[in-house]
Amino acid sequence: MKRRKPAINCHRFKATVAAVLSMSATAHADNAPVTSSSTPAAQAIEQPASVSAVPVAVPGGIYALALPEGVTGVRYRKRDAYIYNGTALIGISLKASVGTHELTLTRADGSEQRLFFDVADKNYPEQRITLANPNMVSPPPETLKRIREESAKMASAYRRYTPVEESPVPFVQPLDGIMSSPFGRKRFFNDQPRNPHSGIDLAADTGTPIASPSGGVIALTGEFYFNGKSVFVDHGGGMISMMCHMSEILVAQGDKVSRGDTLGLVGATGRATGPHLHWTVKLNGNAVDPVTLMALFAPTPPTTSIDTPLSEPTESPSPGS
Ligand SMILES: [Zn+2]
Repeated sequence: MKRRKPAINCHRFKATVAAVLSMSATAHADNAPVTSSSTPAAQAIEQPASVSAVPVAVPGGIYALALPEGVTGVRYRKRDAYIYNGTALIGISLKASVGTHELTLTRADGSEQRLFFDVADKNYPEQRITLANPNMVSPPPETLKRIREESAKMASAYRRYTPVEESPVPFVQPLDGIMSSPFGRKRFFNDQPRNPHSGIDLAADTGTPIASPSGGVIALTGEFYFNGKSVFVDHGGGMISMMCHMSEILVAQGDKVSRGDTLGLVGATGRATGPHLHWTVKLNGNAVDPVTLMALFAPTPPTTSIDTPLSEPTESPSPGS
């Protein structure tokens, strides 16, 4: 397949969209085919070796952009995007508004260009959880300082941006377990609305080893009020995994880990109704579905191409203005 360079200087620049991803746990089961856009300015774009794709960017989804010639960086809401194999993967917040979103592309010579893409709506199902301990629904005032300090620490771990040292392929599930709660569900604890589910839950016995999904550096460990014993792995490129509710942590901050290394053991510490692993992955600070990433970084992605463009970023949200 021949790769045609996009005409980056033309007025109506059409970017080389390799794929727009929005795969959820359920969509993953459909094994959606790889797609590749075909537009007058960007035809027959080669699919990067290990990136598969599904249409439409949605809250909690991933927007994938094949980098046009000369582009070395992509920024979204002041955060650098994850870049691997010539494709930028942009995490879209579960709380993102539907409509036009902006990216800034940067080139080696320092020049910048704005691009726009559309985020479509996605309605995640509800999950209602009953907790015996009311302090896990509405924390007592004396714990608020602790919770604030912990969230500052976690936010700082999620802000890291280090080089990708090890290929993310394959991005492996940390343990064999039944998915007891998929990503994105709107959650109610004892009928009170709380943040949507920012990761996936894998039910497993207490003491089951939890493996690192990919290589990285331990960015943070600790025992947190809601998350219990937790480990943050910085995979590089602003991709951070967080594993929590552990019974035991077996790594320390600063440790280098490889794919498959044991990070800790399954438990039910923090806000948990039973032993399970909660696994969050953030890209550019936004939680995305780990199932999507495992599909994206599968060792043998499907190779089918579709010629129909799915959606194209545009140069301006109101062309001609
Ligand atoms: Zn969870």
